Amino acid sequence: MKVVIVGGGIAGCATAYYLAKDGHQVTLFERDSLASHASGFAQGGLRPVIRGSRQPEYQNLSDFSIGLHRQLAADLSGSGTGEEYSDFHQKGSVLLIQDETEAEESKHVYESYTDYHQYDCRWLSFGELSHIDARISTQVIGGLYFGVAYELDPYKLTLGIWQAAESMGAKLINREITGLKVEGDAVVGVRTCDSVVDADVVVIAAGPWTAGMLGQLDVEVPVSPLRGQILRLDAPGPPLKISLWWDTDYATSKSDGLLWIGTTEEEVGFDDRTTYDARERIIGSAVEMLPYLSEAELVQQTACLRPMTPDKMPIIDASLPLKNLVVSTGGGRQGIALGPGMGMATAALVTGNEPPIDVSGFSLKRFG
Ligand SMILES: Cc1cc2nc3c(=O)[nH]c(=O)nc-3n(C[C@H](O)[C@H](O)[C@H](O)COP(=O)(O)OP(=O)(O)OC[C@H]3O[C@@H](n4cnc5c(N)ncnc54)[C@H](O)[C@@H]3O)c2cc1C
Repeated sequence: MKVVIVGGGIAGCATAYYLAKDGHQVTLFERDSLASHASGFAQGGLRPVIRGSRQPEYQNLSDFSIGLHRQLAADLSGSGTGEEYSDFHQKGSVLLIQDETEAEESKHVYESYTDYHQYDCRWLSFGELSHIDARISTQVIGGLYFGVAYELDPYKLTLGIWQAAESMGAKLINREITGLKVEGDAVVGVRTCDSVVDADVVVIAAGPWTAGMLGQLDVEVPVSPLRGQILRLDAPGPPLKISLWWDTDYATSKSDGLLWIGTTEEEVGFDDRTTYDARERIIGSAVEMLPYLSEAELVQQTACLRPMTPDKMPIIDASLPLKNLVVSTGGGRQGIALGPGMGMATAALVTGNEPPIDVSGFSLKRFG
């Protein structure tokens, strides 16, 4: 099939990879450069969804997709470790707990994991946590540890997946798609400012810009930008051995030698500038958990836009009012973790095959 994909983030590139692997003729349009928005500036943590905290279909997609990440790392790296392709590596992750009610809830969650060794979930007392890193604040009373969690470089990941797709024949065109070519009730191609490219199927994986593109055709896709900011710090002392998170924030030492802390959730439209207020808030929150960070120096501040839906679940759907049109977006705060799963499921919808997991819960119909 001749497939056009709009969007060179993780959602578009992963879809291109699985389609090219299946022998289809793929052309991907990206108006800026590949991974130049959220997919290149995310933190890159892949941690399991805490059981019971999200919808079951979301949990399934997340587990399935993290499995695909492991597979991709093995397949796409020369040495089999995945390091050259995305710096993919296993790294324990701890949810820091600060009050007794939260602690009770977390212990309850932990007990529900006892038969699920694949997550290596454990409750850690403050003493055990301090043994891992003595710099954690005494205001923390314990933590929920996941040993089977991963970290990677999202920019290298997206580029690596694209390069693999390209090596199987996929083509990149650095142009903006200004509209879709529609005949009757079917999409038959895409338009740039000076050309028309025909396609059997068009996939819109344009992140938070998806709503605007499809709104032109009266297809309402409730995805909107949610800005997030990250600070990269030159911190004193050794790197953190595990990644830490609490409330909506986190701290982790990355392979660039810097300690990354984040983040914000800001509804400010398509404004992707960094702000002083976010910087102050993120530093304040991180210093509460890791007081030694008051000595750290700020090296870089970044901001980008997550594609977020009202129920925080992705949209992966081919049953739209227009035929030959597939939408894949809404990865939200976990779009890097969900990317390969979204890509494989989207590729299946394009070709009319049964998706590898049930994606009926990700259809647009759920919004009524
Ligand atoms: C601060 C922050 C930290 C994050 N950390 C994590 C994390 O640790 N783990 C995790 O799993 N996720 C994380 N995420 C979420 C993740 O980054 C996103 O969910 C994911 O990158 C979205 O990918 P996407 O491909 O859907 O969208 P995008 O990466 O936004 O890609 C969409 C692309 O479409 C292109 N495009 C749009 N319109 C057009 C057009 N008309 N023509 C051509 N091209 C077009 C854009 O230029 C863009 O490149 C984080 C996000 C933020 C903001």
